[in-house]
This record gives sequence, C-alpha cells and structure tokens, in this order.
Amino acid sequence: MTLKPKITNRTQISGTYIRIIKMALKQKLLLVFGVITIFGAAGFQLWIPILLGSSVDIAMDVFSAENADVSDQLIFSGVLLLISSIMRGIFTMAYNYSGESIGQHIGYELRLLYYQKLQKLSFSYHSHIHTGDLITRGILDIEGVSMFVRTAVLRSIYLVVLIGTGTYLVLSADLVLGIISLSFVPFAGWRATAARLQLRSSWFALQEKLSILSKVMDENLGGIRVVRSFASKTHEMDKFDRASEEALTIANNQVQIKSKNVSLIGISFLTAMGLVLWVGGLKVINGSITIGELTTFLAFMSILQAPVRMLGMMVNAFARGAASGGRLFSVLDMSSDIEDSQGSTKLTITKGVLKFKEVHFGYEGEHTLNGVTFEVKPGHVVGIVGPPGSGKSTIAHLIPRFYDPSSGAITIDGQNIKDVTLDSLRHAVSVVEQDSFMFTASIDHNVAYGNPWAEDLDVETAARNTQMYQYISRLPNKFSTMIGERGVSLSGGQRQRLSIARSILLNPKIIIFDDSTSSVDAATEQKIRVALQEISRDRTSIIISHRLSSLMHADEILFIEKGKIIERGNHNKLINNNGKYAELYKLQIRPDDKNKSEKIKNER
Ligand code: ADP
Repeated sequence: MTLKPKITNRTQISGTYIRIIKMALKQKLLLVFGVITIFGAAGFQLWIPILLGSSVDIAMDVFSAENADVSDQLIFSGVLLLISSIMRGIFTMAYNYSGESIGQHIGYELRLLYYQKLQKLSFSYHSHIHTGDLITRGILDIEGVSMFVRTAVLRSIYLVVLIGTGTYLVLSADLVLGIISLSFVPFAGWRATAARLQLRSSWFALQEKLSILSKVMDENLGGIRVVRSFASKTHEMDKFDRASEEALTIANNQVQIKSKNVSLIGISFLTAMGLVLWVGGLKVINGSITIGELTTFLAFMSILQAPVRMLGMMVNAFARGAASGGRLFSVLDMSSDIEDSQGSTKLTITKGVLKFKEVHFGYEGEHTLNGVTFEVKPGHVVGIVGPPGSGKSTIAHLIPRFYDPSSGAITIDGQNIKDVTLDSLRHAVSVVEQDSFMFTASIDHNVAYGNPWAEDLDVETAARNTQMYQYISRLPNKFSTMIGERGVSLSGGQRQRLSIARSILLNPKIIIFDDSTSSVDAATEQKIRVALQEISRDRTSIIISHRLSSLMHADEILFIEKGKIIERGNHNKLINNNGKYAELYKLQIRPDDKNKSEKIKNER
C-alpha cells in the first residue's frame, strides 16, 4: 500500500471538502465565534498601518508646532495604536482558538469512527493490509484532516479579508506606490506555493520511508526472539539503516527547498520595499505625499508579507486535507464482507446443534474446503485431524463468521449463522486459537477479557481447570501480575492455557479448540482434558489437533485432507478401517499411550 493520494477526480476532492466542512459545521458556536473574531482581527490589523502613518505625521507636527494640542494628539494616537495592537492580539488568539478547537473535535470524531471501522472490517481485509500501514494511515490522515480544519478553513477567510482589503486600501491611497508595494505579492505567493507543493510530494516520500521504518521496527520487536536467536541483529540493523538513510536524504532535500524559497521571498520583499522607499521618498520630497503616508505603505507591506507567505501553507493544507480525507473516507465508507444481514435476528440456542452442510470455501479463489458436511450435538465432541494445510483451522474460522462459505450452509439449532446477528453468534461460539494473543495487562484482566464483570472466583476456577492456578498463586502479585507485551513473559504453553481459561470463563455453548494445547506437555494436557470433559458435558465441542492423544476420545473424528473429509467415525471404527487415521495412529501413539487413551475413554 502506498501513502500517495490516489484521489485526483475533482468531484471526489470537492466531495471530501464538503464532508469535512459538514463535520466542522457541527461545531456551530465555535464556527460563528471564529468568523466574528476573524473580522475583528483583520480590522485591527489593517488599522495599525493607518494609525502608524497618522502618528508619524503628528510627530512631524510636534517638531514644527509648539502648541500642546499636537502632543496630546500624539499621545492619543499612541494609545490607539497600543489598544488596536492588543485587540488584534486578542481577536487573533480567539480565532486561532476556535480553529484549533474545531480541528481537534473533528480529529477526535474521526479517530473514534476509524477505530470502530477497523473493529468491523473483515479478516480478509486485515490479511491484505499491513497493520503498520493501517496505524500510519489512521494517525497521519486524521492529523491531515484536522490540520486542514485548523489551519485552512478559518484562516482562508482571514487571508481573503486581509489581503483583499489591504490591496484595496493601498491601491486607493496611491496607485503607483500601491502597485510597487504589492509587486512582491505574486512572486512571493508563487514561490511560497511552489515550495509547499514540492515539500508536500517529498513529504509523501518521507512518510513512505517512515512507514517502512515503523514496519521494520514493528516486525523486529514482534519477532524479537527470532531475531535474537538467529543472530540477525546486523541484518536487521542494515535494513533499518537503509530506510533511515533514505529518510535523511529526503529530509535534507526538504531543508534545501525551504531555505532557497525563504531567501527568494525575502529578496523579493526587500526589493519591493527598497523601490517603495525610493519612489515614495521622491514623492515626499516633491510634497505629493507625507512621511506618514509613506510609513503607512511600508507598514502595509510588512503586514501583507506574513499572509502571502501563509498562502503556501494554505495550499498545502488544502491539498493534504483532500488527500488525507479522501483516503480516510475510503476506509470509513468501506463495507465489510462480514456484516449483520438485513433482518438478522439474535441467535437462539435451544440445544446447541452445530451443522455443516456441503460447505465450500476458498481464500481468494483457492478451493480450501470442498463440500464439508458434519454435525456436532450438545455434549458431544467432534475431533478434526489431518495434515497441515488441509483446512482444519478454516473450518474453525467459519463458525464465528470470520469468513463466510462460498456455498453450503452452517447452522446452529437450525438457524443459518448468516441470518443471525454477529454479536449473538460470537457470544455463543468461542474459538481457542493455537496462537494465543495476550494483552499487556494483568493475568486476571487477560482471563476476564470477554467478561470484565466476572467474579474473582470464576477467574480462579477457569485457571484451576486449565492447570494454571498453582503457577499463578506462586507469583508475588498472583492474579494481578502484569503480563509483558503480548505475553512474552509466559511460556507458549502457559499462554495457551490462559487463552483456554479466557474462553471457558465466557461459558460459550459452542467451543472450538484449534490446536490450542499444542505447546502444553502431554501430562498437563491430559489433566486439562479431564477438567474440560466436565465443562463440556452440556456443550458442543470441536477439537482440532495434530496430536491424536488430544482427540482420540471424541465421539466422532473427521480425517480431513485437501478440504475434504476422507474418513469419519469414532477411534475404534477408524482403527478398524485401517486407513489414513490408523496409519497416523501407528506413527504417533506408543503402546504406553494406547493404555492411557483406553483409560481416558473409560473415564468418560
Ligand atoms: P490447517 O489448519 O489444516 O493447517 P488451514 O485451514 O490453516 O489449514 O489452511 C488451509 C489452506 O488455506 C492452506 O493452504 C493455507 O495456506 C490457506 N490459508 C489459510 N489462511 C489463509 C488466509 N488468511 N489467506 C489465504 N490463504 C489462507
């Protein structure tokens, strides 16, 4: 994914601005306050050169006249100048405040909408887009829209009022001097805009490099154990250094663009000022204008200089607002493949019978599942076994609707899962994954993730059932012990057991264990299995495992290969079949384990 703007269509750009302005219009009071204060700020700003000019003329009179009246006038104009400067400052502060505040409100609203959307986007979308890109997009684009509102929306009104009225005042006072004093405006405006646009395109290049850096860092830290154990520090540093060096070159280039253009604008301004002094000075000598009037022109020039330089910033804010807003809205408007269908109702569990009927599914056109049909009754356990890549996890992922089948149906108590609300479905179904994700939080918060109101006793029971209680109670802070980032302070097996505890705490009617004890040793696994048998008594369970000892006790075992069930039946039947299952059994189970498995079956 690239961070470059993809939106070039004018209708799309104006559509984006309209949506942003509509969001800004929600802050009516702030907006009205902002517009009023803009006129105040521009009015006082423009009054300052006029007051300055007249003060200079009065001061000249002080030297030539002796009456006290002129001195009083000078003091009066000095006071007026002071008041208008203070007022200008207050109004500027007020309109900046409203612009900032509206921008921050919009940033806040967009952040919530974006985060909400990410929670709803389908797994297939997430598997296409890098997490780092999504984070960068969220942060930078929301900032781009917010910046557009903060710096461009109110300020453009201010600039139009200030430059428009200023130009009129200067030209109407003296056409020739007016034209000379404004002569720097087109050149400076052009350079400021061109520089901003150049900086903008290099800004995108820089963002891409920074995005690569954050990806490298994210992957490096996420896979820190792999990096360290493969002694890949140097290779990782090289990767980081390359992207970092490219970012440095772009940043240097930006400094050059900035300094070149700032100098050019400065030269054009000072040249125009020199010309005004020269032509204006001659006019003062021949008496056609006063020194005060000349001062007014020079002061107008100084005042107009800042907004002209700002033009570049405005053009940039408009361009960034359109690009960022366009990208952001394209995510916000995206419909998820997996959503509540129209008229969907809450899933009503009467018994908890789960059925797969001729289910076909493929990721991006591949045939991963080819007509899978089976049924799991409440209190029953179905085991799924088969070679890696045969589609076992895919079956698990279809049940809570992480993906939808391309044909066929999955029903729970006769209700097609496509016709029930996602919330009710996901409350009833729990998938315990092999790769158990832990949050950077305490053990009890991780276990109670699905039900933050769970009683301490229930959290403890879940930990007992998953053989984690003894370990946790030996820790200094027991259940309040913080788990390091993504659970790095726990072993793989401990993470898996906490993950099972998290699921059983929710008391789901249908529970799927997807190789969720693969990192647990055989003895502990057996203890967990005995505990889970008690819990599973009135539940519908599916156990997916590559380890036969985990599922030999199942009521029905499905042997799956290339997305098809090629053998089915209980353990004894499959052994008698002498097919793939029996072959796997001979490979995996030693005579010892055989006795154990008989014992387990008798325990049931
Ligand atoms: P198993 O659990 O039996 O090892 P999976 O159900 O995980 O197998 O995968 C079945 C096939 O689907 C494999 O070929 C795998 O590469 C592919 N697959 C799994 N997940 C995805 C995905 N998110 N996108 C594309 N292909 C996938």
